[in-house]
Amino acid sequence: MAVATPLMDKLEILAEGAKYDVSCASSGSFRRNRDGIGNAASCGICHSWTSDGRCVSLLKVLMTNSCIYDCAYCINRRSNDVRRVMLTPAEVAELTIGFYRRNYIEGLFLSTGVVRSPDYTMELLIAAVRTLRQEYRFNGYIHLKLVPGADPLLVREAGLIADRVSVNLELPTREGLALLAPDKSRDAVVAPMQQVNRLIAVNRGERRESRKVPRFVPAGQSTQLIVGATDESDRQIVTLSEQLYRRLDLKRVYYSAFIPVVADTRLPDRPTSPLRREHRLYQADWLLRYYGFSAHELLDDRMPNLESDLDPKTGWALRHLDLFPVEVNRVDYETLLRIPGIGVRSAQRIIWARRQGHLAIDELAKLGVVMKRARYFVTARGRYAGECALESSDLRSRLVTGPVPKKASQLELPLFQPLVGDEAAGLISGEL
Ligand code: SF4
Repeated sequence: MAVATPLMDKLEILAEGAKYDVSCASSGSFRRNRDGIGNAASCGICHSWTSDGRCVSLLKVLMTNSCIYDCAYCINRRSNDVRRVMLTPAEVAELTIGFYRRNYIEGLFLSTGVVRSPDYTMELLIAAVRTLRQEYRFNGYIHLKLVPGADPLLVREAGLIADRVSVNLELPTREGLALLAPDKSRDAVVAPMQQVNRLIAVNRGERRESRKVPRFVPAGQSTQLIVGATDESDRQIVTLSEQLYRRLDLKRVYYSAFIPVVADTRLPDRPTSPLRREHRLYQADWLLRYYGFSAHELLDDRMPNLESDLDPKTGWALRHLDLFPVEVNRVDYETLLRIPGIGVRSAQRIIWARRQGHLAIDELAKLGVVMKRARYFVTARGRYAGECALESSDLRSRLVTGPVPKKASQLELPLFQPLVGDEAAGLISGEL
């Protein structure tokens, strides 16, 4: 007779299986709490972020680690010999509400392997979220994975009960997907993203007419790209991200350095994952979204990959020395953003401070400017503070950055520690 797996054992396995998905974060969702519990705040329910934008206070879990597909890079793939478990929709809801009441989490990130069919799997995910929303009146943040190939009606239903949805593109090109995830087609992956984008636009229009229209995916959609499992250049990746932001209005593209968790002849034989590359891609992504850069300005045919020893903005500035130094008291906001060492906030502070009078070079650091980099690219009241001339051969070596921060791993939150005795019983029953 088969022995049932205890709930906390299932949770441990399914939380482990979910940790390679970095596409969860929450922002921009606001849903007023009327008679339920929990709030999705306007700046996102999760206020804890890792340095690369990963959200840390969601219950991040798979519904099941069983899968009918066999993606080469995935620990949960059909051919991998791992213990398979599955939560019922009721169990997902009970766990979430239990952790929420204990103040361990502020929301849920629910993903899954694909069981039986995309429709069947999507229905299970929706059933779990519907139970949370309707039975437990849970009003907190929910990020739900969409299953490529699921019926558009299910996608629509998911978008009406979740705050954010995501479909992982995983591989940047059609060819990469065909090589490593042959069961999934690029079209099946992109179709729900396009549908969500259309429905968000329709919903915005409807809500302008009437605020009673329920919100559709209020925190928008995101996706994840695996970096380094196939041979795409950074240029291909950054250009794809730019298209996703412009054409599908994605909130975030997450980059996940390829980690070899399963052996497969189709995968690169790489002992370490390219964390520095992932870090540089996040920096380039930031430049696309907040600094007014285009992908073709950062990378082109002659330079298809980001420099590993320089951040992309400094690299761009070194290739455009004819534009520097600039006088910080005269240039516009957009130009300030292009100066290495000046970020969005320091550029805003400079614009504000200039209203009081011309800035001196030694005032810039107080406004948040990183003078270690900026000193070579600016003058203030005509004064240049670089330790060498712009055209000096020393300049590049002075600007090279140090080691990349370590990859943030899934936090060892107490919720992933097994609970015992009454504690576990209370949690499982939801009586906390
Ligand atoms: S669809 Fe592919 S990536 Fe997703 S769980 Fe299944 S094997 Fe893994």
